[in-house]
Formats: sequence, structure tokens, C-alpha cells
Amino acid sequence: MMGYQNDWKKLVVGTEHMVPTIGGKRVAVVNFDHAATTSPLHGVMERIFHFSEVYSSVHRGLGYKSMVSSDVYESGRIRLMRFVGADVKRYTLIYTKHTTESLNLLAHIFGERLDRERDVILVSEMEHLANYLPWRMVGQVDIVPVDEKGRLSCDVLETMLMRYGGRVKVVCVTGASNVTGYTNPLGKIARIVHRYGAMIVVDGAQMAPHTRVDMMGRTAEETVDFFAFSAHKMYAPFGCGALIGRKDVLADASPLLVGGGVARFVTHTSLDWNEVPHKDEAGTPNVIGVTAWTEAIRILEEVGRAELAKWEAYLLDSLVRELKGIDGIKLYGGEKDCVSLVSFALDGIDHRTVSRILSYEDGIAVRSGMFCAHPYVVRLLGLSEDDIDYYRNHHEVPLPGLVRVSISFCNTEEDIERLVRLLRHIVRHKRAYLEKYSTMAEHEESAFGQLKLKQRILP
Ligand code: PMP
Repeated sequence: MMGYQNDWKKLVVGTEHMVPTIGGKRVAVVNFDHAATTSPLHGVMERIFHFSEVYSSVHRGLGYKSMVSSDVYESGRIRLMRFVGADVKRYTLIYTKHTTESLNLLAHIFGERLDRERDVILVSEMEHLANYLPWRMVGQVDIVPVDEKGRLSCDVLETMLMRYGGRVKVVCVTGASNVTGYTNPLGKIARIVHRYGAMIVVDGAQMAPHTRVDMMGRTAEETVDFFAFSAHKMYAPFGCGALIGRKDVLADASPLLVGGGVARFVTHTSLDWNEVPHKDEAGTPNVIGVTAWTEAIRILEEVGRAELAKWEAYLLDSLVRELKGIDGIKLYGGEKDCVSLVSFALDGIDHRTVSRILSYEDGIAVRSGMFCAHPYVVRLLGLSEDDIDYYRNHHEVPLPGLVRVSISFCNTEEDIERLVRLLRHIVRHKRAYLEKYSTMAEHEESAFGQLKLKQRILP
């Protein structure tokens, strides 16, 4: 027990939603899939509702509402930059749809600058595909391997930078892993990266919701050059993301998406781009997404981000202690310096079956699989080249993976107890569960779907 209670569950929409179980009973949902996405805060919904009164097109009109909308949009830029400690004079923020788009845009920009034959992009092995595949599309990528626990080592990174002797131009790391929750020491990594003349790109999708971000670091050497993150992982799921980074680099590049808003003046024979960030924001801006995101941040800061993080850390610690006591569970991450998530494998039951059982039996939502971080999970599971070949050649065989429990401040100790109780039950009655779930015919699963429909999904 932590000695104090909170009612943070009430801050988030849908936390008391009743969901059907396979037995036909409805139970209050337990959501442990917050690393995938988060429901909106009630305050965010209210803000959207009120803002809708003045909603209008950004930058394109001189009507009062249009000017208010433009103000909200532009001040949101500054607000978000301050949130991650970016220097608003030297850095800029480009609104995107999400982290994935931010990193694709950045890779495109570097693609124009890099010499494909000579320059190297280093990508850590713990990256989500969003911070890996875009780089593979534009240049020569080399992987910075993690250790057998899945941690990134600064020494290994430095050795690689040294070995490439100045050829590395970009180093891509995550602020926090979406598989193990391990965090990376960004200031220290930035110092090493800059010493070798490269720039550092940080995927902040899992970091920003949980920990304080300080892009400028303590010294000039410790500054993060580029940072990408998404609103939907921060209780404002309305299609907004951001790329924050050095204006001098971003200003030079041609846009990835083109259309309205990107050009100052176009004729059939000439084209003058707008300035950054506008040249990179083609189409009608998502001002609802922006106002939702800044309101989410305001509310989280008002409640106290440090307090929320403390609660998440407490819940993670309780969960990990319980999981360690369950026979046959192998944990990945979930340590003291991790953001509030942990993955595990359960001996003798595949990841997908575990998450089906949790959902169908007691309304507990977790995630299973490789979490869009295939190379990292392959490494954690220790798959051999032969294993990989086998899975590649047998599409009928489900891919291996893990079960991930990702915790939010809106989770409670009771949520943890329900999860642990059911996991213990699964282990104790493994054979029965396996039988039930391996022989459960398709029609029975779809009966579960029909049950949901019959009972109406929405109240
Ligand atoms: N990076 C990490 C570490 C993530 O966890 C995710 C989301 N799973 C992403 C990138 C991609 O985020 P988005 O879907 O918002 O683009």
C-alpha cells in the first residue's frame, strides 16, 4: 500500500466501462494497454467541446474564429516545445499525425542531405519500427546491438562511432522502449554522438507520457537534436503528433507532403516554399488535435506529472513483485529505471492465448506479439537464424512474441490484483485453459463477438 489514495481513474474517459466476458457476465474493464494508446481525459473532451464554438480554418481567414483558431494552433507550438524544454528560438515544431509521420519526415529530410554511399545512420536495436524503417528507406543503416537483457550500452555505441571514423551522421534512439520500458540516458548519449560529429534523433513516444523531457540538457553537448512524439499516448487521441528539432536542419529541406499551405507563391514556372514549419504542414491543420494535446498537458501538469509517475512506478513495482512469484513467468524489463510497462512470457502458453484468456475471462486488456519492434523481440527471445527462416517460410505458423502490460496513472491496485489473480489461475489450471482455448472453435470466438453485439458495444 502506498499510504495514500487517489481518484485519478476518474480523470480518464471510459475507465469504468463494462465489457462482456465469455461467460456472458459483464465486468468493469481493466486496461493495461496504455502504451498502445490512451483514452482522452474528461477535461480534454470538455475543452474540445468548448473550442468547437470557435473552431475554424487556421491561417486561411481573417474572420474572428479563424484568427482564434490560428492563435490556438500557433501558441500550441510554443507550449509543446516548452513541454520538452526545446529552445524556441533555435528549434521549431512541425505538427504531424503521430510519431511515425514525424520520423518519416525527418528521415526524408536527412535522405536529401546524406551521401548514400558514404554516410551511415546508426539505429539502436531496441527501436520501434517507426524509428527504424524510415531510415532504412533513405540511407545506409547499421544497428547498435543491445545486450541480452535488451539494454543499450553507451560503450558499444561509442565503439561503433569510433570505428566509422566520422561517417556516422545520425544516431537514432528511443527515449523509452515500448517492449521492456528501459529508458536511455539521453544527455550522455547526446554527448557521445556530438563528440563524433553526428546528430541524435529521439523517439519520444513512450518517454513523453511518463518522464520529464529536457531537450536542451545541461550543456550544449547534451542537447537532443530531434524529438518525435504523439498526442494519443498522452490522453489526447485526436490525430496529432510533432517533430521538434533544429531549425537550421529542418529549414533547408523540401517538404515530404505537398499541397495547400506549403508554398508562398506558385506559378506554372516557379515555386517558392513557405518557411519551416509551414512548408511541412500540407493541408488543413488539425487544430482540434492541438488544443486537445495542450489541454491534456495542462491537466497532467496541474495534477502533477511527478506524482502521477510515482504512482505508475509504484504499481509497476507491485506488479513485477507479484509476477516474479508466479511459476513459469519470464519477465522482460520492468526494472527501477523503466517507464511503467513490462513484458513477459508464460511457459507453455503462447502470448496470444494468454491475452485472449485475460480478455475473454475477465475483461483485462493487454497486448501481445512483437509490438512493432520485431528485431528487438527477436533478440530478447534469442531466436536463431534458423528460427527466423522457419517463421519467414511458414506463414501459417503464428509468430512468437511476448505479453505486455502497460500501466497508466488511472490504473489501480485492484487492477493489478485482478490481473495477477487470473494469471495465477491460468498457471494452476494451465491444461484446462489450453484445452478450452485451443479447441475453441472459430464460431465460439465469434459467438463472443456476437455476444458483444447483442449486448451493444456502446452503452
Ligand atoms: N515509437 C514507440 C516507442 C512506440 O511505442 C510507438 C507506438 N507504439 C511509436 C513509435 C509509433 O507511434 P505512433 O503510432 O503514434 O506513430
